[in-house]
Amino acid sequence: MKLAQRVTQVPPSMTLAISAKAKAMKAEGIDVCSFSAGEPDFDTPEHIKEAAKKALDEGKTRYGPAAGEPKLREAIAAKLKEYNHLNYQPENIIVTNGGKFSLFNLMLTLIEAGDEVIIPVPYWVSYPEMVKLAGGTPILVPTEVSNGYKITPEQLRQATTEKSKLFVLNSPSNPTGMVYSPAEIRALAEVVVEKDLLVVSDEIYERILYDGAEHLSIGTVSPEVFARTIISNGFAKSYAMTGWRVGYAAAPLELIQGMTKIQGHSTSNVCTFAQYGAIAALEGTQEPVDIMLAAFSERRRFILDSIATIPHLSCPQPNGAFYVYIDIKETGIDPLEFCNILLDKYHVAAIPGIAFGSESEVRMSYATDLTSIQKGMERLAKFVASL
Ligand code: GLU
Repeated sequence: MKLAQRVTQVPPSMTLAISAKAKAMKAEGIDVCSFSAGEPDFDTPEHIKEAAKKALDEGKTRYGPAAGEPKLREAIAAKLKEYNHLNYQPENIIVTNGGKFSLFNLMLTLIEAGDEVIIPVPYWVSYPEMVKLAGGTPILVPTEVSNGYKITPEQLRQATTEKSKLFVLNSPSNPTGMVYSPAEIRALAEVVVEKDLLVVSDEIYERILYDGAEHLSIGTVSPEVFARTIISNGFAKSYAMTGWRVGYAAAPLELIQGMTKIQGHSTSNVCTFAQYGAIAALEGTQEPVDIMLAAFSERRRFILDSIATIPHLSCPQPNGAFYVYIDIKETGIDPLEFCNILLDKYHVAAIPGIAFGSESEVRMSYATDLTSIQKGMERLAKFVASL
């Protein structure tokens, strides 16, 4: 069968493929330590599950508005105001099938042939593919480890052409875990206005910060930046709701109306009762978020200390998200091969940097229990020692 070129030009999502393989190996009874997908190992907090169950019992099982339940759009607008100091009305919000579809929908709504989208490297695996699927051209800008894998204002300026339409900013970052400081965000915002770009700020890891790191939402910098900003976020990472598929975008009205049209012809509304769980996540106690954060923090310390003891591996200190991005150049092995052997022979799943556009690194997610992390690190050390 001849498939459309749109689909043949993109590879499968490597984060999903490797984590599926690790899960299948576990199902076969193999003791796999998985550091692959960024998926919190915690169960969704009880009060969120209760709210969804109640919604089911109340018959919230029907079609809803394509842009989302009005109550959830209100709760998201209130959260953006209180937590991020961004002044959006509920009509500026669209509820999407995970944070992932907020980005994909945005690309479909905004990008067409000839448009360039600036993406710093390393990037989350799906950004460039989404741009390509929308018919646009990803412009990949390599960053330096010495600058914490962060794009500089000068690099952003240099990458801009008359075709540039959108800049993708992700802080805290997947895959590196690095966080742009408020001063760095302000400096990038200046270029966004100067070059008349739009910026999509993927803030899915905004709550997962360590060592006093601060998250500044770029839209707060000035009214000029706000008018050019699209916020992408979701419930998966902060509230351990990966399977619920509830995310959202906040943007100028025209864009949200366009995205609502796309949604009306594609996904329709996000699962209605899942949206009631999301309302409870925002309006209920935030204590579970703090508990998960404390656990991530302990795991981060452990994994960084372990890596420091393994010869030939190095990584900068990430201050957000739940990833370490390890430079394995000194081992002399290609990261793809490294990850293949690590999984097949040592039963440790990690993602090679190639998924994120870089050549000498491996990403490990520490959103997994401490016992698996301890075991996985011992196996990793053994593998590296065998080389
Ligand atoms: N975003 C997570 C990750 O990077 C989940 C998998 C995916 O959607 O790519 O691992």
